[in-house]
Amino acid sequence: MFRLDGQVAIVTGGAQGIGVGICKIFTEAGATVALWDVADGQPVVDEITAEGGNIFYQKVDVTSKESVAAAVAEIMDKHTRIDILINNAGIIRDKSFLKMTEDQWDAVMNVNVKSLYVTAKAVLPHMIEAGYGRIVSASSINAMLGAFGQTNYGASKAAIQGFTRSLCREVGKYGITVNCVAPGFIKTAMTDSIPEEIIAGAVQQIPVRRIGMPEDMGYAYLYLASKESSFINGITLHANGGSYPT
Ligand code: NAD
Repeated sequence: MFRLDGQVAIVTGGAQGIGVGICKIFTEAGATVALWDVADGQPVVDEITAEGGNIFYQKVDVTSKESVAAAVAEIMDKHTRIDILINNAGIIRDKSFLKMTEDQWDAVMNVNVKSLYVTAKAVLPHMIEAGYGRIVSASSINAMLGAFGQTNYGASKAAIQGFTRSLCREVGKYGITVNCVAPGFIKTAMTDSIPEEIIAGAVQQIPVRRIGMPEDMGYAYLYLASKESSFINGITLHANGGSYPT
C-alpha cells in the first residue's frame, strides 16, 4: 500500500524545507524523483542517494516555460514517464498591504500561481497519454486564516485551491487527480530563525502540541500521490495538527 515503485515524480522546490521531506518519503516509497529547484538541489540528492533512493536534480525555474519544457523533455527521454507532479515551490514577500510594492505582489503571484499553469501545461499531455497522473500543489493554512503582511501570499495560496478544484473537473476522465495540501506550522530553515519562546507559544495553539516536520508533509503528499487515493479529487488536505479543523 502507498508504494510508488516504478513511478516517476517531479518535486518542485525540493532543495530545502518541506520539499526535502517530500523527496525523502517519495524515494522511500520507491519513486524515482526529479528534484526541481532554482537553488542547488545536489546536496539533497547526494544525501538521499547515499540512503539508497533514486533521485536526480534538475535546475528548473518553475515560472519559465523554457526551463520546465527542457526538464520535462529530459525526464521523458531518460525515464519515459511522469506519474506525479508535486507543485511545492513557493515564496513569501511579506509586507503590510499599504506598504506592499507591485513587485512584491507580482513575485509571489508569479512563483506561487503562474508556476502551476507552466508546470501542469508541460506535464499533463504525458499524463493524459498514459491515462494516469497525480498533481498535488502546496496551499497553506494561511489561505484560510489569513495573516498580517500576507495579502499577496494568502491570495496566491487560495488561488491554488481554486485552480485545483477547476482542473480536477477537466482531467479526472483521464485517470488524473488534482489535489492540494495546506500545511500548518512546519519546521524549516525559516522557522529555525524564530525565537524559541515564540515557537513554544505557537505550539500551544496546535492541538497535537508540536510543530509539523517536513516528513509529516511528505506523508500527506504521499497519500494524495498514491494509486490508492484515486477517488479523492479536488480537495485540500489540511495538514496542521488540528490548528484549522475542517
Ligand atoms: P522553502 O522556502 O524552505 O523552500 C521553497 C523552495 O522553493 C526553495 O528551495 C526555493 O529555492 C524553491 N523555489 C523558489 N522559487 C522557485 C522557482 N521559481 N523555481 C523553482 N524553485 C523555486 O519553503 P517551505 O517552507 O519548505 O515551503 C514549501 C511550500 O509549502 C511552499 O509553497 C510554502 O508556501 C508552503 N507552506 C509552507 C509552510 C511552512 O510552515 N513552512 C506552511 C504552509 C505552506
